[in-house]
Amino acid sequence: MNAAIYPGSFDPMTLGHLDIIQRASKMFDELTVSVLDNKAKNALFSVEERVSILKEATKELPNVTVDSFNGLLIDYAKQKNVHISVRGLRAISDFEYELQTAQTNRMLSKGGLDTLFLTTSLEYAYLSSSSVKEIAAFNGDISQCVPDFVADLVYEKMKLRRN
Ligand code: ADP
Repeated sequence: MNAAIYPGSFDPMTLGHLDIIQRASKMFDELTVSVLDNKAKNALFSVEERVSILKEATKELPNVTVDSFNGLLIDYAKQKNVHISVRGLRAISDFEYELQTAQTNRMLSKGGLDTLFLTTSLEYAYLSSSSVKEIAAFNGDISQCVPDFVADLVYEKMKLRRN
């Protein structure tokens, strides 16, 4: 069985993330999309909300499961007996951080966890969760960045933040 984990913050999941999920799901028998419970980041959505968005968006993909984790990715991967982490690369600016993380994970796991990079589809190259939140905070149009049901949830959250 070849399996992979796609870890990330997904706050919120964008069409760029979904594109990576769809492409990676064709490469592996099992893909686990896992939300990192990173308390240090001031997130818009709770981990449970992010998991539920990902579940809804991937419900047509039978080999994709959604989960969450905290702590080190290598420990989580070991516990799941998975040896590949999938990450998306948008621009050179992602590269330095991603390279460092991938090498650190290989070192810490003694070669037990490798990283597979998928380059972003060009139409999503500009997309990030932070820009989605920034645009929505000013009531801008995020319909080309996230699925419609996610856009509704983001606007709702922004309204709550304002009140
Ligand atoms: P993190 O906080 O771990 O970077 P993100 O949720 O921002 O988590 O991203 C998770 C992964 O998805 C990262 O590998 C990131 O580079 C990738 N990613 C984010 N946006 C896009 C996009 N528009 N196209 C392709 N990959 C993306």
